[in-house]
Amino acid sequence: MDGAALLGRGSLWSATATPGPELPALEDAVTADVAIVGGGFTGLSTALHLAERGVRAVVVEAREIGEGASGLNGGQVIPGLKRSREELAQRFGAERAERMVALGDGAAARVYDLIARHGIDCGLERNGWFRGAHSPMAMAYLEKTHKEMAARGIDAVLVDRAGTERMLGTDQYVGGLHDRRAGAIQPLSYVRGLARAAVAQGATIFARSPVTGLKPQDGKWRVTAGRGSVTAGQVLLATGAYTDRLWPGLAQTFIGVQSAQMATDPLSSNLRASILPCRAVVSDTRKLSNYFRVDATGRLVMGGRGPLGDTPSPSTLAAIARAAERRFPMLGKITWKHAWCGRIDMTLDEMPRIHRPAPGLWTVVGYNGRGIALASTMGAVMADKLAGGSDPALDFPDTPLATVPFHAFRGPGVAGAIAWYKFRDALGFAA
Ligand SMILES: Cc1cc2nc3c(=O)[nH]c(=O)nc-3n(C[C@H](O)[C@H](O)[C@H](O)COP(=O)(O)OP(=O)(O)OC[C@H]3O[C@@H](n4cnc5c(N)ncnc54)[C@H](O)[C@@H]3O)c2cc1C
Repeated sequence: MDGAALLGRGSLWSATATPGPELPALEDAVTADVAIVGGGFTGLSTALHLAERGVRAVVVEAREIGEGASGLNGGQVIPGLKRSREELAQRFGAERAERMVALGDGAAARVYDLIARHGIDCGLERNGWFRGAHSPMAMAYLEKTHKEMAARGIDAVLVDRAGTERMLGTDQYVGGLHDRRAGAIQPLSYVRGLARAAVAQGATIFARSPVTGLKPQDGKWRVTAGRGSVTAGQVLLATGAYTDRLWPGLAQTFIGVQSAQMATDPLSSNLRASILPCRAVVSDTRKLSNYFRVDATGRLVMGGRGPLGDTPSPSTLAAIARAAERRFPMLGKITWKHAWCGRIDMTLDEMPRIHRPAPGLWTVVGYNGRGIALASTMGAVMADKLAGGSDPALDFPDTPLATVPFHAFRGPGVAGAIAWYKFRDALGFAA
């Protein structure tokens, strides 16, 4: 397989997405109630929810809409936070933890609601998320998780080995957990649809306008991009894993790691019948999990973790191809048509974080590879905060900016962590 040749072909999503709105670059001095830097799910969902409340929001995006993680991801719409209610209760108190968990639990439904209310054409399918157990120990972990989910009335079922093989078409798992709330989308079509909806509701979006200046001025904030500027009472930095040096220290609050994907041509009808016949989106209990799905056009899309950097290496792509062949030997000598990657913002506690580093200045980072549902939801949370509301259903605490220790050494740190996780995965531990 020629990784370099594949890379030239770009992402599957950019080849198949619905068009986005025509957007101008920021060239004049404009004013707003809220300026939002970054036009991914977080920035656009916030702009949309603000516009729905009648608040003037202006989004400034460095590139085209969806050229960050929001247009590059796996399209797996998965609800829930990665930390348990007990862990959250220890940090934030029982009542608040309850609200945070409810917010996470409802996150996929919020995406479906946005898609329905704004008529977003993004190939939504609702066949759930299947989490395969890679060892008996991991299956025991899924059984415990299922018990907790059942207590919260969540629509999820445990599946044994034979059932898993029937649903997924692979014998690589000892069983699994099928969370039926989850779904799948074409992510670039979704983020472009959010942009269209935000504009339709009255928000303004500028593209191709990297923000290089952020300064307080006369009790407001002035955001500058080239010759243009936005002066606003409040600012949201929604720059995710693509955060640069605009606000000192913000990029050091997470580790930006690479996740890469490959996609085939549409599979033959025989292969379609045998590979993921249940059409759920899939990942497994390994810490270094592969994730995969079949998209609305019948292509197998397979993803996996890479190291750092913005180009997937031939060895990363070869590892993803091997992961696909191991699970689905019936693929035979399949041709991979698309290969691409993006950055994921990993935090040490695997939780998204809202920070307020200065009066009137907000930021949200750290979706840890699970941001379609959560970032869409954080848009509603941030709109409530920025509009001065206090809806208890949108309660999510803001915490002080905390730098990842030894961030400057993240290169060797990530390599060391990958080796450690591989070892744990091989022993059968669940993530
Ligand atoms: C390969 C991959 C697979 C993934 N798979 C899934 C999945 O299947 N399911 C899931 O739930 N999540 C997944 N994720 C995570 C999900 O995509 C992200 O959590 C989510 O897109 C984050 O959205 P965001 O708006 O915070 O950031 P982004 O979408 O990254 O948006 C940030 C934007 O800020 C802009 N920006 C940065 N600096 C500036 C500046 N100075 N001026 C102006 N603009 C600026 C960037 O250009 C970018 O467009 C995946 C991520 C990757 C990379």
